[in-house]
Parts: sequence; C-alpha cells; structure tokens
Amino acid sequence: MYRSHTNGELRIADAGEDVCLSGWVQKVRDKGFMVWVDLRDRYGVTQLIFDGERTDPSIVEQARSLGREFVIQIKGKVIEREAKNDQMPTGDIEILVTELSILNSAKTPPFTIEDETDGGDELRMKYRYLDIRRNPVRENLIFRSKVTMEVRKYLSDQGFIDVETPYLIKSTPEGARDFVVPSRMNEGQFYALPQSPQTFKQLLMVGGLDKYFQIVKCFRDEDLRADRQPEFTQIDCEMAFVEQEDILHTFEGLVKYLLLETKGVEIKEFPRMSYDEAIKTYGNDKPDIRFDMKFGELNDLAKNKGFGVFDAQELIVGIAVPGCAGYSRKQLDKIIDFVRKPQIGANGLIWVKCNEDGSYKSSVDKFFDQEQLATWAQRLSADKGDLLLVMAGPTDKVRSQLSSLRMEMAENLGLRKSDEFAPLWVLDFPLLEWDDESERYHAMHHPFTSPKPEDMHLLDTDPGKVRANAYDMVLNGNEIGGGSIRIFDKETQARMFDLLGFTKEEAIDQFGFLMNAFEYGAPPHGGLAFGLDRLVSILGGQETIRDFIAFPKNNSGRDVMIDAPSKIDEEQLKELQLKIDIRS
Ligand code: ASP
Repeated sequence: MYRSHTNGELRIADAGEDVCLSGWVQKVRDKGFMVWVDLRDRYGVTQLIFDGERTDPSIVEQARSLGREFVIQIKGKVIEREAKNDQMPTGDIEILVTELSILNSAKTPPFTIEDETDGGDELRMKYRYLDIRRNPVRENLIFRSKVTMEVRKYLSDQGFIDVETPYLIKSTPEGARDFVVPSRMNEGQFYALPQSPQTFKQLLMVGGLDKYFQIVKCFRDEDLRADRQPEFTQIDCEMAFVEQEDILHTFEGLVKYLLLETKGVEIKEFPRMSYDEAIKTYGNDKPDIRFDMKFGELNDLAKNKGFGVFDAQELIVGIAVPGCAGYSRKQLDKIIDFVRKPQIGANGLIWVKCNEDGSYKSSVDKFFDQEQLATWAQRLSADKGDLLLVMAGPTDKVRSQLSSLRMEMAENLGLRKSDEFAPLWVLDFPLLEWDDESERYHAMHHPFTSPKPEDMHLLDTDPGKVRANAYDMVLNGNEIGGGSIRIFDKETQARMFDLLGFTKEEAIDQFGFLMNAFEYGAPPHGGLAFGLDRLVSILGGQETIRDFIAFPKNNSGRDVMIDAPSKIDEEQLKELQLKIDIRS
C-alpha cells in the first residue's frame, strides 16, 4: 500500500493515528536539529517532521538529502503542530516520520512548482507535466472535468444520446483550411480531419436519433491569432423536429444549469438581440453587456454644422464613458494613441467632458456650442461626470473601431469583472457575407444553414439581405456557441451550393452523400455547438483557453513538449507513396 491517506486529508482529529503517505517533496527546511518536509500531491500538502530526538538519526540524514520533486513514501504518526498554520487545511498537524523510502529521485525542475512560477510560457509548455503539478493549472483541469461532467449529466437527463463520429473524413466547410491525412491503403488520397462533425450530426438526424451530443475534438488549420488552438473541443449538439425556439430553450437551459452548478450564479432569462441591433449598438456581434456604454449615432446632430472633418464621413458615433469627465490631457492622449494604433487604424477621436456643473468641455468647442454638445450627451444617455468619445468614418470600420475602444475603456475601468456573467443570444444572422477578394458570397455560418422562410424570395434578387435561422450564444463578450436550423431538402441545399459558387459537380462530389440522404425522409432539424475550451475558461474567470487545456499548442501550432509537427522518415513516406517537394 502506497498511502493510507492523501496529503490534503489529515486534521487534528486524526492526531495519534499511524499513517502512510506518498507524494512529491515540495520543500525541505533543515534547521539542524530538525528537518521539515512539505509533502504534496493532487489533494494538498502535509508537513512531515524529522526530529533529532524522536526519529532515527539515519532517517533524519536521509531526509536532509531529499531534493525538490523527489517522490517519497513515509510512515509515521499524526501529531499536533506547535506552530499551527491556518492558511492550509492540514495546518494543525504534522507527521512524525518513522520510515522513509525514496520511490524516485528528481532532477531540479526548470521552474518553481509554485502558484506563481518563475517559468515563462514556452518553458512551462515544454515541461507541461511539471506545470500540471502547480495548483492553478491542476485546478483548471479539475474544473474543466467538472464542467464536462455537468454537461453530460444535463444533456443525458434531457434524452440526448452521446454518439461518436469519425475523425478521418472529408472536408466539412466551417470556413477554415483542413488538416489532411494521407491514406496508405488508398494511394494518393487523403482524409481531412473534421472542422466539426456537422454533416455527421445531420445524418444522425436522418437516422432518427433525434437528440445527439458529443464532446468532440475539431481541427481547423487557421492562422493562430492569440488564444486559438488548431485542435479544440466542442460540445456538439443536434435535434430533430425542432424550431429555433426549441433549441434556444434547451441550450439556454444548459448554460443556466452550468452557471448554477459550477459558479452558484442564477440567471433567469437570457436577453436576445438581433445581429443588426448588436452591430448598431455595440459595433460587433458578440457584445459584452456586463457594462453599458451603448453606441449612439450622431449624424443628424453633428454633420453639416461647420466641422468639416465630420461632414464627409458616413457615420458619426459615440459612447459615454462613465465617470471619466475628469480625465487629464495625458489620459485623453492615451485614448487617442490607442485608437491610432495600426490594429485599430483610426485617425483620432473627439472627446466631450460632461462636467459636474452641467457645462461641457470638448476638443471641438470651436465648432459646437454648449447646446449642441448637450444634444450629443442626451443621445448617448450620458450623466454628469461622463466622458463622451466620438468617432467618425465608414460605417463598418468606425463601428468596429469604437467597439475596440469600448472594450479598452471597460478593461481600464475594471468593468470586465470575471465573476460577473452576462450571457445573451444574438439572432438573425445574415445568411451570406460578400467577400471582396474572391468576389463571391460565403456562408456566414456554414452552407447547411437555412434561410428564414420570409426572406426566401430575396435569394435571387438580393442574397446579401437574406437572414438565416442562425444564432450565437455570447458570454462576457465572447461567442461561446453558435448554430442554426438546417436546410433539409435537396433543392434548397443545391440552391445554396450554387449561390456559394459550387458547380453542380463539385457539390455532388463533396456533399452528394448529404443531398442523397435528404431524399430518404430527412426530418426538420437544427443544432449548435459550444466551444468547450472557451466556455470553461470564462466560467473559470480567465481569459486564456490554454490554461484549461492539458497539452496545448503554442502560437505556431507546435507542441513544444513532444516536438510536433515533425518530419517523418523516408520509409513512412515510401509506404504512403509520397515525395516531399517543398516549394518556397
Ligand atoms: N458546426 C457548427 C460550428 O462548428 C455548429 C453548428 O452549426 O451546430 O460552428
């Protein structure tokens, strides 16, 4: 037996008991006449005492030789500590050691195994197994496990069936590049790894399973912007004989349940907002509604009033930042610098201080009088003491710039509180988006999304105006899930492929199996998928998904621990009938 108890378990009530513990050496404190060792495992830390008077001197000597992260086993008696530590659950006791065996020695770890470590990101990833010994990482992984357990529980209770779908498939268009795998048995042919199980879950509906879910890996070969992983996990779901409302109801239920079970947070009903409203009011389709600062459009109040800079612009739009009217010149300059950063790309902005005495002070006092500025303040629902920030430009561009500024101001003002949760649904996404580069429409969600019946007539005349039965769930400014009601008849699906620029042959070659299935009695169906990594990290109160993934990849898509991707040998290439010809 390696242990009678864990290292997080023993309390003062256990004093006098003979125990056996195993774990890693966290710390050795050698005071000459006595040696203390902190013994750690997943459950906590227990202090061991090797005492010159009460412990065999050879064992005390052995304790002195222990290094950090040695794996040891001890036997001894639980005793009351003289100097208690109320910071740790086992802080009232220590173990007077009678036997010590070293199960394994350890090299000095390349970084400290402490809550705050001296290891940089790359080093932590290289030695991720040591990083996982640290409390914060371990707790994140345990939290993730709790969330997935609760997901399974909720969905199983609702009658969902967990079905596995294959990884070696062919392309599923979710808008990214595919990872491909050569097939040895089918010379010159490749599988694609699923960007999602989209077509399979739809086929499961044709198969009559009716309520499906899977916690599943998806693979997308995208340029890795911050905090994206080439392989990530979805809670993937699909239901048959449902309308959008049924789906919203079911999965709002899931997220409510998760918030309650994992965070103790009760939320009654999720607000809903159309895509158009989200864009107009927050400048993006995943608004953070933990705080206000809604956009107000000022064209009618600020254009053609003698300030030339505004007159030529498509949209003049602003926000009221609470309590910032007292900002100094320096603070205002910092905001202007922010919007001028290349990532934001604005030329500048206009500010208006709504002073406590009811007067206004602005950077455009020469052009606008007090009464005019008061109308701006009113439009932006500003209070005394607020600071108005106003930007102008082409509509889409200026909205996205102001959206970034809104988030930046919220961050600086501490309004993005990690223990506050503000979910919402964003509905009625456009079906298509125009891509200037390829000069054609792309599916905004994916090609299987159904147009809204009432917009069907626009498919020929004005496809860009067609709205979809598509929805996103947003939590604290992040899209945590999204899905749609699907097309379930062959004609509409063929029409959709046509709109997206597939020839008939291409559509049949890639998705013939799905269109065939639609000819054998496909039920109306729809679903969605949640990004598990992001959902867990937001619930866990953190921004980065990497800390909730046991073995993540770095920003170049590398696993620096196992050193992947890597070359394969000539022999393997030969078996696959492949030749590497790197083009630069
Ligand atoms: N397959 C979609 C995605 O990965 C989700 C869905 O439509 O259910 O975003």
